[in-house]
Amino acid sequence: MSTGKIGVTSENIFPVIKKFLYSEQEIFLRELVSNAVDATTKVKALARKGDLKEELGDLTVRVKVDKEAKTITVSDHGIGMTAEEVDKYINQIAFSSAGDFLEKYKDSIDAIIGHFGLGFYSAFMVSEKVEIITKSWQPDTKAVKWTCDGSPEYTMEDADRTDRGTDIILHIDADSTEYLEDSKIEGLLKKYCMFLPVAIGFGKEKEWKDDKYVETGKDKIVNDTEPLWLKKPADLKDEDYKAFYKKLYPGTYEDPLFNIHLNVDYPFNLTGILYFPKIRTNLEVQKNKIQLYCNQVFVTDSVEGIVPEFLTLLHGVLDSPDIPLNVSRSYLQSDSNVKKISNHITKKVSDKLTDLFKNHRDDFEKKWDDLKLFIQYGMLTNDKFYESAKDFFLYKNTEGKYFTFDEYKNIIKDNQTDKNKTVIALYATDKEEQYSFVSAAKEKGYDVLVMDSAFDAHFINQIEQKNQDIRFMRVDSDTLDKLIRKDDNPVSQLTDAEKKDYSAIFDSQTPKDSKKNFTVEFDTLSADDMPVIITQSEFMRRMKDMGKLGGPEASFYNNLPDNLNLVVNEAHPLVKQLIADAKAATADEVSGLEKELAPLKSDLDSLEKLTKDKKDEEISTEEKDKKSELQKKISDIETRRKALFENFANGNKLVKQLIDLALLANNMLRGEDLTKFVKRSVELIGK
Ligand code: ADP
Repeated sequence: MSTGKIGVTSENIFPVIKKFLYSEQEIFLRELVSNAVDATTKVKALARKGDLKEELGDLTVRVKVDKEAKTITVSDHGIGMTAEEVDKYINQIAFSSAGDFLEKYKDSIDAIIGHFGLGFYSAFMVSEKVEIITKSWQPDTKAVKWTCDGSPEYTMEDADRTDRGTDIILHIDADSTEYLEDSKIEGLLKKYCMFLPVAIGFGKEKEWKDDKYVETGKDKIVNDTEPLWLKKPADLKDEDYKAFYKKLYPGTYEDPLFNIHLNVDYPFNLTGILYFPKIRTNLEVQKNKIQLYCNQVFVTDSVEGIVPEFLTLLHGVLDSPDIPLNVSRSYLQSDSNVKKISNHITKKVSDKLTDLFKNHRDDFEKKWDDLKLFIQYGMLTNDKFYESAKDFFLYKNTEGKYFTFDEYKNIIKDNQTDKNKTVIALYATDKEEQYSFVSAAKEKGYDVLVMDSAFDAHFINQIEQKNQDIRFMRVDSDTLDKLIRKDDNPVSQLTDAEKKDYSAIFDSQTPKDSKKNFTVEFDTLSADDMPVIITQSEFMRRMKDMGKLGGPEASFYNNLPDNLNLVVNEAHPLVKQLIADAKAATADEVSGLEKELAPLKSDLDSLEKLTKDKKDEEISTEEKDKKSELQKKISDIETRRKALFENFANGNKLVKQLIDLALLANNMLRGEDLTKFVKRSVELIGK
């Protein structure tokens, strides 16, 4: 037996390992199992070359948990190690490089683990003592037992093992007993070792016998040694990809839309399969599903920084020995291999979509609704992707037909170009809610798109920015004539004074709601149009819609009330009638008020003429008082005049009815107001 001190620079390596690696504790199992797998792969290579004289035998790597003895054992029949090798690989290299490494990368935990010879030592994160019992494949070598209790001192002695291979025995420490649960270990094996290239046995298969499950002699293999991504695409069918998807995401019911099989060997190594999931609403749920492997060893499923943000919505696996998987994210983002890989994947994704669009347009259209959000996300966040996607991005109209941008523009340009030569694309965000506007637009021969995704507001903005000759307007953002102004619209027949009077009629009956501001407008539409229409300006509404996704403007716009226009159609017979009635009902009183007003106005006029050229200090107090007295009287009369029309409106059911009809057409009439409307309607019909 020999004892020695491991060649570490720092005396405190174990406390450091434990402390630094604490959050990543569970990777110890990945490290030990992949070492066992490496040793096995190496012995297979030796056998192939004919160097190995003995039989390969059973190569299954086995993991065992002994709850009573508080041990976890990882056994392999790989190349094993001679005493010299243990000394070299475990005592010297592994430890010293760990020491250097810790010193260098103190701040990034990920960086310390694996690929730098620290793999094996991660066992000490969960163990108070670790034993290695190993025998080399080389003939005439002795088995050796290495023991270390977590201090830099180790012991090495002969062991009586006769078969080739290595057992790593972890004596789990009191803080880590969770790892003595079978379910925990099985979970970790499934997570990290699912696709390792050598069979990994954990426990035995069970079978149903005499009314209970009993263990059979067969190992329960936890992994799939030939993952689909390593096979040739030509040999695979669609079902294979779907089945593999289910294997990656047990418990997922939906099939993916389609997949991309990646296989690159120059200038970097990358294999993998990316799946397009159906993405309709919740993006967050979809994210972080891509699993990253390094030579079939699971590393992480957070791929931000490795693939562009929007691609994190894809699912699947990426496997590359060229991604420096164990270093920090900021390092990853600046790594040139990572950049190349990221660009490559983006290109593959757009190639795939372009191919589908060009060669399988029907299928592409069928999948479009599930793809749209993903593609928009890509176009909004990645310029390169925007450039290729703009040609296959599809716009869907209310009839369910799909068009590319150019196709659509061609279709609408004759009928929907306004007098400024801007093509106006009309859209609905909810074709049911905005039905009355959609159907009015269609009656006019216009086409209406459906823009109902969470990104549409942002997306429309982007499209408008890149294409100055097109504007998107929601169908209810103005009256049709104003949405697409062809020539100068007929002007209102009403005088300003009349507008003021009649505004009071409608204004007084609009819903009083702190979240909605109504502005009454008069407009000469056609007699067939609705008598009252509620519109909402495109700009503000779009800003609010954009705010719904969050961001700095979000709370600002969301706190503003909705500004709505109540457009009264002067040309409609009911409105004409109403105005005539109002005029008749108020005529006497209005003329009385006008008589009262006339002398006050002329007094004010002459006073203003008198003081027009004077500076403020030259105007006498008397003049000032007189002026404000006149102004007050005038404003009182105006208030009384306004009240006249409001009173008229209060007693006139038609006004409320017309407004409610407009609210109803916009799906804004709810609750008590709706009930009142129904009652009033019955009364009006009964008349
Ligand atoms: P790495 O695997 O990154 O080289 P480790 O610290 O995990 O670093 O292991 C150090 C070395 O110890 C390995 O390179 C290998 O030579 C040897 N080794 C570890 N585990 C085994 C094993 N199960 N069988 C044979 N050799 C092993």
